Amino acid sequence: MTVKSIGIIGGGIIGLATGWQLVRRGHSVTIFERSRFGQEASGVAAGMLSADAELGFEEPGLYRASRESLKRWPAFVRALESDCGHSVGFGATGTLVVADDQDSEASLRRMYDFQKDEGLRVEWLRGEEARDLEPFLSPGIVSAVLAPEDQLVDNRLVLQGLQTALSASGGVLRERCNVAAIVPGEGDPIIILDDKSQIEFDQIVVASGAWSSQIKGLTTETTPRIRPVKGQILDLQAQPSFELKYVVRGPRAYLVPHKDGRIMVGATSEEMGFDKQITAGGIYSVLDGAWEIVPGIYDLPLNSLLVGLRPGSRDNLPVVGKSDLPGVYFATGHYRHGILHTALTSEEVALEISDVYDSPWFSDFRPQRF
Ligand SMILES: Cc1cc2nc3c(=O)[nH]c(=O)nc-3n(C[C@H](O)[C@H](O)[C@H](O)COP(=O)(O)OP(=O)(O)OC[C@H]3O[C@@H](n4cnc5c(N)ncnc54)[C@H](O)[C@@H]3O)c2cc1C
Repeated sequence: MTVKSIGIIGGGIIGLATGWQLVRRGHSVTIFERSRFGQEASGVAAGMLSADAELGFEEPGLYRASRESLKRWPAFVRALESDCGHSVGFGATGTLVVADDQDSEASLRRMYDFQKDEGLRVEWLRGEEARDLEPFLSPGIVSAVLAPEDQLVDNRLVLQGLQTALSASGGVLRERCNVAAIVPGEGDPIIILDDKSQIEFDQIVVASGAWSSQIKGLTTETTPRIRPVKGQILDLQAQPSFELKYVVRGPRAYLVPHKDGRIMVGATSEEMGFDKQITAGGIYSVLDGAWEIVPGIYDLPLNSLLVGLRPGSRDNLPVVGKSDLPGVYFATGHYRHGILHTALTSEEVALEISDVYDSPWFSDFRPQRF
């Protein structure tokens, strides 16, 4: 394996995790982040690793990759915790997907039948059986599906851990450092910063989330369009008298209980361009949807309101692989599943960049499909 110099644009979870995997393989890595590391979508996310509960009818390729990533998370966590020296709040929680009326029960049943056909280990529960597992569910819940293998991670701790691990092993982290442009080139692509300084690398990785198609030098013919999909989310604080054991998903909102007592309640999904305004209507709709399925949240203290921009491609699948621009590689477009996919994407991207290797997991995700 040849040691390479690699410049990564974007210090979200995808850029940081990919950088860490590359440094572990002996490469020299610099990550450019235009604001602060992990403050955009990756720091706002709920932290669900919900491959099973989120399986959609239209997404079998995505599901295979989600499931593989879920399988790789325990090893990813072991290695990261050993490199950074602290826990990243990883654990198995399981997800309860609940229905609170006839319509939502009918659509839950269709999803359950599909999941069973696909061979998933999911379980159908009556309302009272679901309440036996999770006593804070509303009496109005008529049925639920339990996905016991879904997991959870504290994405903020992962982001901190990755920065610590990268710095400790010689990775260069450049904060408040906007990449204005790229000049592609075989073997020597160049990154140009706002102050006009130019840095040459063997390989550039675009991991700039929702902003991935905004960098100058990425032509519209060679760059898949990535759009921002706004998500507003609340951070509530559990109390001794109120704790959730499971991730709970309802028709209009989800609740995600973390080990440190935070309960993330989300999220809106809005096509609003790069707008990051937190709105009364957005927060109201999420709270109302969550309160309907778990009324006990009413009295919980509110830690903060957050907003992030999910990076969505035209078909909402990730965009991963060599671009048609020499020396430029994409690792972006992870949309609603970037935390879940981190373990798989970062490891397979590092392998593709290190060796002559074509990842079988990215066949549906290549930039050339557009
Ligand atoms: C409300 C919400 C809840 C979510 N919940 C979950 C969940 O539970 N589970 C899950 O799997 N996923 C979840 N997601 C999705 C997940 O957050 C994203 O898919 C993931 O964070 C994308 O990571 P990223 O590194 O590609 O993007 P980002 O985290 O957005 O990072 C991209 C970084 O690139 C930087 N950047 C951009 N342009 C430049 C430039 N020119 N120069 C330098 N730096 C640049 C940005 O400042 C940013 O820090 C959620 C998203 C939202 C919004």
